[in-house]
Amino acid sequence: MTDDLFTRAVHAGREDLLEAGVHVPPIDLSTTYPAVDSAAEAERMDQYAAGQQPDGSPIYARLHNPTVARFEKALAELEHSEAAVAFASGMAAMSASLLAATSGGKREIVAVRPVYGGTDLVLSTGLLGTEVTWTDADSVADAITSNTALVIVETPANPTLHELSIRDIATACGDVPLLVDNTLATPALQNPIREGASIALHSATKALGGYGDVVGGVVACDEAFAQKMRSVRIATGGVLHPLAAYMLQRGLATLPLRVERMSRTAHDLAVRLQDDPRVSAVHYPGLNSNRPSQMTSGGTMVSFETTEDARDVIKKVSLITPAVSLGSVDSLIQHPASLTHHVVDPDARETCGISDHLIRLSVGLESPDDLWADLDTALG
Ligand SMILES: *Cc1c(COP(=O)(O)O)cnc(C)c1O
Repeated sequence: MTDDLFTRAVHAGREDLLEAGVHVPPIDLSTTYPAVDSAAEAERMDQYAAGQQPDGSPIYARLHNPTVARFEKALAELEHSEAAVAFASGMAAMSASLLAATSGGKREIVAVRPVYGGTDLVLSTGLLGTEVTWTDADSVADAITSNTALVIVETPANPTLHELSIRDIATACGDVPLLVDNTLATPALQNPIREGASIALHSATKALGGYGDVVGGVVACDEAFAQKMRSVRIATGGVLHPLAAYMLQRGLATLPLRVERMSRTAHDLAVRLQDDPRVSAVHYPGLNSNRPSQMTSGGTMVSFETTEDARDVIKKVSLITPAVSLGSVDSLIQHPASLTHHVVDPDARETCGISDHLIRLSVGLESPDDLWADLDTALG
């Protein structure tokens, strides 16, 4: 993490506040706005429908909201992208990405497992009219056809924390856009667009919000794809609530600080787990010497496998909360095969490393010693 990231995280999206004479970003809760000059508004309606952001009144809250736009501007700055488009959840952002990418008529999606369970489900079922080809990281170029609309990868992957080289995958993609789910790394540790990806997607519900009290999603991309995404957002209505956008932007200010501390603790716990005979395997990017250089630390998540029943370990924690989700200030632990990745085909689960023994730990801001004491007791 570079020092200037700490400055940008605090100040991104706040550039106009001094002139506006306020200290914190205003929250605009209007659903509708005065529209006096109908002829002029008609022209602006067309611009909104085309995914543009004309100056002046937003007309209607599903078309545009200034508080949401401010969060988008801040996130784009942290992801080094031209634009960002926010949604009601991570899955709303993923669904909109699929619809936007396939709007030209190509329907095929090439994807590398594991990905988030919800993403796996929407791709496997073809619910949104896409056809998925699952492949491994080395075979992306071979899997692409003239009908491929989008390539989707996650690194580090949820829940195995397996990393792949974004730069290598981007090269394999050629002209086909590459979407990287950057939820686990966060823009504090990794910027996929700088590595050659076209789209960086976040479940903002996780570390961006950071306190486990807001649901949202956001995609960072170039302005051309952002226009498609805004058109889809207007058509499907998966808008981020302005209050959620305010909370997410507030979360960004402490993102580097939280991620730095959580990563340090995660590394500490990963080392202790690795040395423990009750643990049969530890999956932590920071312990892998052959990893791609794109993520500036090992990250805030640790996955591990136990010799006894993993579900029993989860029953016995007391400080750590047994729960899905991740990236919160408090540590969360869960059993992917039963919960987040239960919807994934069992054979595919086993092949991509989501064994029944796997436990996923999202490390929070607690003291490493207190967390270790809890894990030590739970491991029995
Ligand atoms: C949680 C998550 C999602 C889905 O986000 P929601 O906000 O729950 O809709 C997508 N990708 C990853 C990696 C996630 O962890």
